[in-house]
Amino acid sequence: MNVLGIETSCDECSAAVVRDGREILSNVIATQIELHKPYEGVVPELASRLHTEWIAQVVQSAIAKAGLTNDDIDAVAVTNRPGLLGSLLVGLNFAKGFAATLNVPFITIDHIRAHLYASQIEHPLEYPYLGVLVSGGHTVICRVEGYDQIEVLGTTIDDAIGEAFDKVAKHYGLGYPGGVVIDRLSKNGNPNAFLFPGAGLNKGDHPYDISYSGLKTAVINQLDKFWDGESEKSPENISASFQRTAVGMLLKRVRLALDDTKLVRISAGGGVAANSLLRSELKNMEKGGFEVSFPSLKLCTDNGAMIAGLAYRYLSDGVRSGFDETASARVSAFKKNYP
Ligand code: ATP
Ligand code: MG
Ligand code: FE
Repeated sequence: MNVLGIETSCDECSAAVVRDGREILSNVIATQIELHKPYEGVVPELASRLHTEWIAQVVQSAIAKAGLTNDDIDAVAVTNRPGLLGSLLVGLNFAKGFAATLNVPFITIDHIRAHLYASQIEHPLEYPYLGVLVSGGHTVICRVEGYDQIEVLGTTIDDAIGEAFDKVAKHYGLGYPGGVVIDRLSKNGNPNAFLFPGAGLNKGDHPYDISYSGLKTAVINQLDKFWDGESEKSPENISASFQRTAVGMLLKRVRLALDDTKLVRISAGGGVAANSLLRSELKNMEKGGFEVSFPSLKLCTDNGAMIAGLAYRYLSDGVRSGFDETASARVSAFKKNYP
């Protein structure tokens, strides 16, 4: 089954064809990064306009790169939540029109579930496993029992981890998008140059919850003292020290959750799963007997292949969406299991 996956939730206009949920025939990602760069962040109005201009070409190019024609597409899947509403609507409506024209099954996909699922396309793990979803808007530690069976154990109570990377980079004028830049600068920095406060574990009922706002503020407050000629206050050292703390805070909760749940498999996903320190630390856990899986770099940030991959699971279980399905800027399926 050739599933066309369309993703336009933010500033990536992407379409992919995945065969039988495993074989990525194409994964075209047209990024708008350069066009949002002057504003140091995604401008929603601009994003939806660009998706409108690009979507038809991106989809046709994904089908051509797969070596297929429209008639070879067996189902159409599209992100309908969460994200920028105007951007989501462009992909959603294009997907509906495409599915209707081809007269093939149509399904809408929760983008966050797709980030979490992405690693399973290339390196499937046996269930259950500990899911670590780290992206621009989400930070979730969860117990994954099946592609659609997810129990949220902890989340951020304020900023997402990717958001913290982006905001720190923005305040220091390091470049855009922030996560990638901080990762790169860190390679030449001393991670112990600054001791930033990494929030300790919560003592209460929600030990796996996490807060990034305090760390972000502490790092940003170094700004006044920045560029004063002292070599340790280099962008490289600030980046490396921040990254070490941000990743360390996450791993502390991951280890605690592994201890408590006795899970022996771990899978990460989302844009921050592209972070080289996080990847190497997770990889190291294999020495402790854990089985670790994370997506290849292209499948970490927003892409159509993860949408098509997850859609294949739903479609195989007979799930379909109607053409009255709409988009939603916020997630409803990914709430905590407690109030
Ligand atoms: P969400 O998926 O939560 O709706 P999003 O789609 O904007 O948000 P993603 O596309 O998953 O998020 O990832 C983008 C985020 O990943 C950005 O915050 C970016 O800075 C971060 N990121 C990308 N590469 C890296 C990296 N190498 N190190 C750290 N962060 C990174
Ligand atoms: Mg993006
Ligand atoms: Fe995303």
